[in-house]
Amino acid sequence: MSILIKNGRIITAADDYVADIFIEGETISAIGKNLPVQADTVIDATGKLVFPGGIDPHVHLAMPFMGTFSSDTHETGTRAALFGGTTTVIDFVLQKQGQSLKDALADWNSRARGTTVGDYSFHIAVTDFNEDTKAEIKVMVEEEGITSFKTFMAYKGALMIDDRQMIGLMQEVKKQGGMVTVHATNGDVIDYLTAKHRSEGKLTPLYHYLSQPEVTEAEASGRFSDMADYTGCPGYIVHMTCEGALNAVRHATRRNQKVFVETCIQYLVLDASLYEQNFEGAKWVMSPPLREKKDQQSLWAGINQGLVQVVATDHCPFMWEQKLMGRMISRKFRTGIQPSKIGWNCSTARGFTKATSR
Ligand SMILES: [Zn+2]
Repeated sequence: MSILIKNGRIITAADDYVADIFIEGETISAIGKNLPVQADTVIDATGKLVFPGGIDPHVHLAMPFMGTFSSDTHETGTRAALFGGTTTVIDFVLQKQGQSLKDALADWNSRARGTTVGDYSFHIAVTDFNEDTKAEIKVMVEEEGITSFKTFMAYKGALMIDDRQMIGLMQEVKKQGGMVTVHATNGDVIDYLTAKHRSEGKLTPLYHYLSQPEVTEAEASGRFSDMADYTGCPGYIVHMTCEGALNAVRHATRRNQKVFVETCIQYLVLDASLYEQNFEGAKWVMSPPLREKKDQQSLWAGINQGLVQVVATDHCPFMWEQKLMGRMISRKFRTGIQPSKIGWNCSTARGFTKATSR
């Protein structure tokens, strides 16, 4: 099987020129002007841009969450990615408490193997770091080819690891030649604010945002950078959203530390004003939440300054019907009654208190 792409405007990291590309099997075997070759398929790309395939290093396909799954499977997610020119995605395996990394990986492989349309790889999230997990880091790196270990400094009681575990993991990952990545927000502060807002009956999507203020991300990004510096472990902060967190990384560069930073498209183009409506704002509920206009400016500046190296998606879609589960949970907390016991259903719920304070 061979393909000849003729007369495309080829864009690479270094060049921009018009030429032909000849592909045999899955390998580009020649690039040049007017290539004298015969191909099974010829594509006329005159007037079109030809890019290398994109890599999205942050997606969650068929991810188990709150009794449901993110709505893109490995098949539909990679198919959608290909339509946008993204030929590789990196998904996150999530270890459950008490589970081995090997079993967690097998769980994800059972959904991904044989179903993906594009190329894929995995990061693995370490949520239960103990002596058994520690022994598996080497196996993941050397036998499974997984070199990036995701951590959560938030989601207390579920995914979060404490600093003791973080330091231990960093030391082991450094030893095995890997990298630690992080969801950097202060889980204890968020846990406190969430409980406080809940007790006050403040349950609209705006309070999702107000429970995760910028300082929670700035503090955790600094703490993570400090621990990475202390251990010498390569560190990568996923989905950075705000000026304060970027400043923490800027501070780390003053001691010649390199911290890799990823942001996501939504943080560059959307802002928190979208939460200032009733449950409709749930469409933009994500963690960390959208921030302010000034944070968008900081992130764009960070890209230009080389402080932000990666733009990803954190693609983790939920259908509106799945988002409505959040409204049911809100109802339960407001009344203290299970939705099912009061005959409540999604289509009849109305009139949530509009949150007006910030
Ligand atoms: Zn994510």
